[in-house]
This record gives sequence, C-alpha cells and structure tokens, in this order.
Amino acid sequence: MKTAIISLFPDVVEESLAMGVTGRARREGRFSCRVYNPRTYADDARATVDDRPFGGGPGMVMMVPPLRRAVRTAKAALPAESPVIFLSPQGERFDQRLALELAALPGFVLVAARYKGVDERFVASEVDRELSIGDYVLSGGELAALVVIDAVARLLPGALGNAESALHESHVDGTLDCPQYTRPAEDASGSVPSVLLSGDHAAVARWRRKEALRRTWRRRPELLLEREIAAADRELLAEAIEDETLFTLGEED
Ligand code: SAM
Repeated sequence: MKTAIISLFPDVVEESLAMGVTGRARREGRFSCRVYNPRTYADDARATVDDRPFGGGPGMVMMVPPLRRAVRTAKAALPAESPVIFLSPQGERFDQRLALELAALPGFVLVAARYKGVDERFVASEVDRELSIGDYVLSGGELAALVVIDAVARLLPGALGNAESALHESHVDGTLDCPQYTRPAEDASGSVPSVLLSGDHAAVARWRRKEALRRTWRRRPELLLEREIAAADRELLAEAIEDETLFTLGEED
C-alpha cells in the first residue's frame, strides 16, 4: 500500500510514523507514506499557503493552489485509484469498519489542514472523501491523519507480530475486547480469574467471549443492537446478563 500525507508539519508526522507498529510496518515495506508540505508548492518566496477569509472575520484559510499542487504531486506517485481524503471535523466518522475499507485500498492521500481549514473550492475539486476522528475540533489534521494511518497500518498483512491479535480486538466484530490479565496471578489488587490459569483452552475461549459480550452490553449496548448476534453469543450474553442480575440482587453463590 502506498500512502501520502499533505501537512504543514512534516516533521511531526514523520516522527510519529517512525514509532511502534506503524514504524516497523513502514520499514518492512508493508506500506509507504510520503509527506508533502504545501509550502513547497506556494507561489511566492515567502511560501505563503493561507490568506484572510473573504467576507471578513478572524483566522486564516488555506489557499487552493499550493494544496492542489501538493495533492496532485502526491497522487502522481500513487496507484491511479487512490482517493484523496480530507481530514475534517465535518467528515464521516472514522471507525474500524472504515479502517478495514482503507486497508483494502492500494493507496490514498490524507490532507491535514491548519488554521480555519481550507478554501471550499479545494474540497469540491480535489477531495473524494472527508473523514472526522470525532466530534471535537483539533488545531490541525496531523493527529487525525496519524490516527487513520495507525489504524490502517496495523491491519495490513504481517504488520502485527501475531495476525491473530488483530482479530480479537474491540470493534473488529462489533463487540469490545474482553479484559486481559498478566503476571503476577496474585496481587494486592486482586486475583486473576481462575479459568485463565486452568490450561483448558475451550473454557478460556468461552470465558473470553462471554466477558467480551458482557463488556459490550455494559459499556456500549448500542453496538449489540447494530448487529446480528449469533445463537452461541446470544446464549453467552444471556448468561452474562443473568450473572449481573443475580449479583445486583445479592443472590450470587
Ligand atoms: N473551521 C473548521 C470547522 O469548524 O469545521 C475547523 C478547522 S480546524 C481548527 C483545522 C483543521 O484541523 C481542519 O481543517 C482539519 O484538517 C483538522 N481537524 C480538526 N478537527 C478534526 C477532527 N475532529 N477530525 C479530523 N480532522 C480534524
């Protein structure tokens, strides 16, 4: 996969891209990511990329020409069908489903803006899609671009040491992950659930699935309403809900 990021702060982006799973996947050639600074494509010697908004008001707006040149240069180095994605608080909400969708593409360009945003004509003429990472406003799109790249890169074949880990995480199948424990088995903060120490793989798998469903029901019940629940999961969820009810009524044991 070939990607590109358009940003006025290439150093910030490069530094973050070098870390962890993303850094390793990039070094191993599982994806490439080139960062283009719109200032390189400005018309004047001062590398101006923004100007005051027509109609007045506070703040500056990123101009079309430097952004357009940066995007077109980036696209020329990517597979033809690579979409241009503008990071914006007004975009479609980025989630695991979209991460999977992007991970299946041969490439894409992410545009991170600054200031009050970009001239709307840039969006209308150069952008295929707008994505938001949440209902809040960041000072710039760099963090949003890095969120997207990170979520996508870890889904690429071979990016995670153990391909299994990507399958058992929150939101992959519409549920949250189960609780995790590690050594020591006994600690002042409590004991590890005994089933995890039993060596009984089927019992461990059943416990994990039940706890994942319990967690989802407790914390994000709407996720369960958005999907078809398999019969085996329905049974585990009913058990989990019954446990909770008994616990609340003080009838456990
Ligand atoms: N005036 C814009 C608005 O209210 O929609 C916000 C501009 S924001 C200060 C500057 C840039 O940061 C945006 O153009 C976008 O690239 C990025 N950005 C801010 N919040 C974001 C979010 N929630 N998701 C994705 N990108 C965001």
